[in-house]
Amino acid sequence: MRLNSMSTMTILTISSAWLRRFNCLIFLAMTSALAAAGTTPERSTIDERYKWDLGKMYAAPEKWEEHCKQVTSLVAEFGAKKGTSGESAKSLLAALQLRDQINVQMEKLYAYAAMKRDEDMRAPAAQALYQRAQTLSVKWDEESSWFQPELLRIPENQLRHWLEEADLKVYQHYFDDLLRTKEHILSAREEELLAMAGKATEVSSDAFSLLSNTELRWRSVKDAENRDIEITTSSFSQAMQSKDRRYRHDAFLALHNSFLDVKSTLAATLSGAMQKDWFYSKARGYPGCLHRALDAENLPLGVYDNLVKTVNDHVALLQRYVALKKRTLKLDQVHFYDLYVSLVDVPERDYTFEEGRDLILNGVKAFGPDYVGVMKQAFDSRWIDVYENKGKRSGAYNMGTYLSAPYVLLNYKGKFHDVSTVAHELGHATQSWFASKNQPPIYSGYPMFTAEVASTAAEIVFKKTMLERTKDTKERAFLINQMLEDMRGTIFRQTQFAEFDRAAHTLAEKGEPMTAEVLMKLCREQYLRYYGPDFVIDPELDVECLRIPHYYRGYYVYRYADSYCAAAAIAKRILGNEPGAGEQWMKFLKTGNSRYAIDMLKVAGVDMTSPKPIEDAMSLFEQLLKELEQLLKS
Ligand SMILES: [Zn+2]
Repeated sequence: MRLNSMSTMTILTISSAWLRRFNCLIFLAMTSALAAAGTTPERSTIDERYKWDLGKMYAAPEKWEEHCKQVTSLVAEFGAKKGTSGESAKSLLAALQLRDQINVQMEKLYAYAAMKRDEDMRAPAAQALYQRAQTLSVKWDEESSWFQPELLRIPENQLRHWLEEADLKVYQHYFDDLLRTKEHILSAREEELLAMAGKATEVSSDAFSLLSNTELRWRSVKDAENRDIEITTSSFSQAMQSKDRRYRHDAFLALHNSFLDVKSTLAATLSGAMQKDWFYSKARGYPGCLHRALDAENLPLGVYDNLVKTVNDHVALLQRYVALKKRTLKLDQVHFYDLYVSLVDVPERDYTFEEGRDLILNGVKAFGPDYVGVMKQAFDSRWIDVYENKGKRSGAYNMGTYLSAPYVLLNYKGKFHDVSTVAHELGHATQSWFASKNQPPIYSGYPMFTAEVASTAAEIVFKKTMLERTKDTKERAFLINQMLEDMRGTIFRQTQFAEFDRAAHTLAEKGEPMTAEVLMKLCREQYLRYYGPDFVIDPELDVECLRIPHYYRGYYVYRYADSYCAAAAIAKRILGNEPGAGEQWMKFLKTGNSRYAIDMLKVAGVDMTSPKPIEDAMSLFEQLLKELEQLLKS
């Protein structure tokens, strides 16, 4: 997925354990309403070579049906193993292998249905297929929920002994991970109660989603061409990039006032989400919500603390960047609605998809021939669904499964941003490919914490290579401005959000009131600290903290910032031809889920337990900023 630097997208994450590879599936908030507008073509009129070839997954719908029946009976077969998996090494192995089998089969059924639906979200048949896949996957989750508790009831000595056997050895890391959190797993009855509470504790998140996506009263303003435009979270992102300041100002007020209308309700839903996190953390015996969130991936507290501290130590760089915006755009004051305007006034050029392809394949050469080979295959074997069509899902994603190619959905429009999106998504696809090819099913995904590293590294290497080759001053300035904006939106902004995340969770943990006023005051204080004296905080901006969907996901945003820093460190090693960097990178991609995230990043030569990668990213920001200051002076 691509992080929208304004963080206005809705998040769709499939949380089932067997779908770990889809973790980074995030869509932009725009629905088919946008895609259907104007001259968008019908899917049938688009040349086949620009559409993904899902026929390689199932030659005909009947084949999906057949497969669905087979998987349903495998699920029943698995259910029959209940109570027997701990009897012997043999029965344990049989259960684990059957579960692996079902997981990869289920993944294929599900991915196909989801991608078919996304081709044209108006098509009822595809919607129905998707719903069936969903129902089956929920059933699988339910029917297999007994399994982990049963594994944990096997005496550890006995289990360790069994794991020495040749066929079971492969599961050692899986069990290490499972046993690591054993002290936080409760009795069967308590686990049942927690599971029963699940639906109720999700309600505040559902309410937020309904309110912010559909029921909020959106306002209309005149755009730069004097047309009426309704400002929603998705049209807002576009409005913020307009060169017309009056339009940006009006759009800013329109959006934030829509949220201010319901600020108390939003404070209540956000409070509900924070209370939920604290409830589960307490129930499972964690001292705080952050501990629980990090422990899920065996991450030390340092990955969060190093980030916040190091970025705070460097907010002066962000403020220097804001000052540059002020000078370049000739503003007497910088407001939020001035932050997203490009500082470089070049007529943006268009790239055909073929031109984009060549730029990318050349731009990622530093990763080595095996890597480039997979990307080339993505272009040549129709893994990519390129253009927008009526009803198509907006945004971009990669959908990798063990039994199919890692497909990529795009809405390619030919701007530089679109080309870098292709590089980003192919970065995901390449990791999916190498993990699947080199790992057994159980480890064929990748840890959440590393999900955006491979994609961002691809994007950074691509952009830096473009930059190295560009001699034209204006084009250089344009590219540098793009990279600085990536870093502002991903490192500074997401770290600011991560701080808010912690402050709000702390209120819940201490049992303090979480009113709109309290939360909005926190938001304002952070803007003050991050953006400094050249930035004017309009009172409406305070409500921003109540409109960010990521806060409903329990400590999520710090990952974006950490991932970017890790990716920048990898890109630096690769482009600097550091000895061994290329081999280590390939090893990282092939690791899948077979190691913890931190160890995996160490394989790639990055230590996220130290502040060094964050400091290096800050140095990169400074170096780019310095060059942009020079370029804009001349
Ligand atoms: Zn991504």
